[in-house]
Parts: sequence; C-alpha cells; structure tokens
Amino acid sequence: MSTVIPIRSEKSTGCTDVIPLIERGQREVFCGLTGIIWLHRKIQDAFFLVVGSRTCAHLIQSAAGVMIFAEPRFGTAIIDERDLAGLADVHDELDRVVNQLLNRRPDIKMLFLVGSCPSEVIKLDLSRAAERLNQIHHPAVRVLNYSGSGIETTFTQGEDACLAALVPALPAAVATAPKQLMVVGTLADVVEDQMRSLLEKMGISLCFFPPRKSHDLPAVGANTRFLLAQPFLADTARALQERKAQYLPAPFPLGLEGTTAWLQEAASEFGVSDQVFEQVTAGPRQRTEKALAVHRQMLQGKSIFFFPDSQLEIPLARFLHRELNMQLVEVGTPYLHRQHMAKELAWLPAGTRISEGQDVDLQLDRCLKDKPDMVVCGLGLANPLEAQGITTKWAIELVFTPIQGYEQAADLAGLFSRPLKRREKLAA
Ligand code: SF4
Repeated sequence: MSTVIPIRSEKSTGCTDVIPLIERGQREVFCGLTGIIWLHRKIQDAFFLVVGSRTCAHLIQSAAGVMIFAEPRFGTAIIDERDLAGLADVHDELDRVVNQLLNRRPDIKMLFLVGSCPSEVIKLDLSRAAERLNQIHHPAVRVLNYSGSGIETTFTQGEDACLAALVPALPAAVATAPKQLMVVGTLADVVEDQMRSLLEKMGISLCFFPPRKSHDLPAVGANTRFLLAQPFLADTARALQERKAQYLPAPFPLGLEGTTAWLQEAASEFGVSDQVFEQVTAGPRQRTEKALAVHRQMLQGKSIFFFPDSQLEIPLARFLHRELNMQLVEVGTPYLHRQHMAKELAWLPAGTRISEGQDVDLQLDRCLKDKPDMVVCGLGLANPLEAQGITTKWAIELVFTPIQGYEQAADLAGLFSRPLKRREKLAA
C-alpha cells in the first residue's frame, strides 16, 4: 500500500543529485558532550561520567542548567596536572572515582564513560577502562564508553556515538519472533507516547531505542525493522544493520507531511491497510493542517539561511519550504548522509544551495550578502547577526524542544514565526 495522499503528490527529484558546497574550515559548533543533556533525561537510570577538563565540566553544567541541590546524573572526572604530567596512574584514579560514585548512587544501572578532547590528547583508552570496570560492576551496573570530544564529534554526534556504543549490549531477538518496529533516536516522552499510540492503533508492535530504563533494552535481529526518528544517527544505524536489523527509508517526522510519510513507511512494511491508516491519522492530520495555517501567514515568502549545526537542517528546511512557503537561501549541514537524507533531498526545491561542513568566515560573508529574513545558527553567531539586524533562531533550541510528530508541528512552526513577530513589533 501507500496510496494515502500526502500534502503534495507530485513526483520530483528536487535536490537528489545535488553537489553540495563542501567547506572544511573553522567551524562554530558545540562538541558531542552536549548530547548528555537530553540523553540523561531519557535513560532515567544512566549516569554519564565525562573524563575531561574543567572546561568540559563547565560546558555540561551550564548547558544542562541543573539546580545545585539536585542529584545530577552526569559529572566530570577531571584530568588534572598530575595526570597530564604522568605523576598519577589515570586508570587507578578513574577506578577510584567510579567506585566512589557507584557506592554512593545505587540508583545508577548504566554508566557511560564519555571521552573528551583532553582524554583523547593523552590517549586514555576508555574502552579498556569500561571493559575492566564492567567486569567488576556487571550485572548490577553496565559500564560502556563513547567519545563526545570536540576533536571527533559535533553537537548531535554525541548521541550517535552513545547509541552506537549501546547497540552491542542489546539482546538478540529470537529468530522465530514476529516482525517488530524499532524507533531509533531520543525523543521527548510526550512525543514517544503519541507515536506509540498511533502505531499501536495501526496494529504495529514496536519498541523505542534508547529505552527509558536500562533494563528495557529492546531485542534486535533479522525481524527488526527500524525507523530513524533523528537524522544524525549514521553510526547507530550501521551498528543495527550489522545486527541484521533492516532500515526503513523515510523522511523524518517533522511537520504534517514528514510525519505522515514516516508513519506510512512503517504502515507499508507492516501491511496496514489504507483504510486503517486513514482512520488512525485523519484526525491528527486535520488538526495539524489547521494549526499550521496560522503560522503560514507569518512565514510565507520569508527567506531563511541555515548554518550547519545539528544535522536537522535539511528536514527543517523541507518542512519550512513545503508546508510554510518559506524561501531557502542556504541549507548548511555538518554532514550530508545521502542515504538517510534521500527522501528529504528529493523534497527540497531543485537548485537549493546546500553546504556541507563549515568555513565560518566565508559562510558569514555569504549570509550577510544574502540578507535573509531569518538565520538558524549556534549561540556564538546569534548575537553578532542580531546586531546586524538579522533575526536568528538558536539551533540548540530545535534539539531541546519536542518538535517531532503531528501535535508538535505547530509548536515547531511557532519557533520560527515568534522571533519574526517579535522583530516586527519592535520595529513598529
Ligand atoms: S570535549 Fe573538548 S570541545 Fe568539548 S568541552 Fe571538553 S574540551 Fe571543550
């Protein structure tokens, strides 16, 4: 099946064969440690121990904005001068910190040792440390490691590295088990609940990865079909495919059209009839269409420029162009994964300027010359651009806010229409 009519049904190859502008210069992006902020909220009994410097501790502490009297589920084991000078055995120090932590916090069931720039520079082998500590603490606590270092990862790649490290820990699905859908990528609980409800109403058996509790790790095997809920999970997808799971190619569930096509991909795979699909999605689709109309009035015809940040840029640009009639000036992405982006690229208007990687000075020059109505960028660029009279949207907000699915589509549009409205009011 798949005859349910999306918003537009024209056949277009859009930007499928696009040759992006490739830049490999200075970049202005957070490192992968940032992912800890949403990951620690999702996996409720996991702890993220960054093995890093005071800078790393400061980044996490200020980005997460945790109150000082809360018991956080992340922390930093500081590599100090004695470690750097080789005066102390870093592995011994790490064992001591981990033992202390786990003795004091019996609620922790999964511990991630997270590598950083300093741990990478001194070539600290965290996989060996995780293996050693796992032997001591498993089964009470599973110890894993991944890198969130700014040398290896940007912003959302931290989640990819974390989930890819978790894939080998997933239990093997029984060979005779019925086909199951796995939704991959961290989603806000409210979004997850809505998606579960829609897919279960269609009769699809499903699980989410990562789970909310570490003992709920979903099984994986040849009967697993997975949909990506986030566009930045290339390594995780590869690790799942190595465990025989099959990837379902779909656009990402942003906006009315993206969510419908994403659900349709699962429905097709699981043999859901058009009639059932219609019954389940007609109500939410109508509500979403109505809610988006309000924002379309403010956004249509406005131009937008994306600096590369979260890898959400291409699906967001598709949503803003096709559903809200915005004009795309440049769509920058840190990495372009052609296979995962295939359906999104086909939906972008032909000729869209897509850039991959960054050379921030050159990109700023292009942006100032183009004078877009709105720019999506990191925190470091927002203030200078606002000072030039350009309305900005912080990319990080798009990662922290629940934006996937039908019920969130209008909130997502609001994240773009509100700053423009505010500027109009200030100018009046
Ligand atoms: S990992 Fe590297 S880039 Fe990230 S906060 Fe630590 S030192 Fe800075």
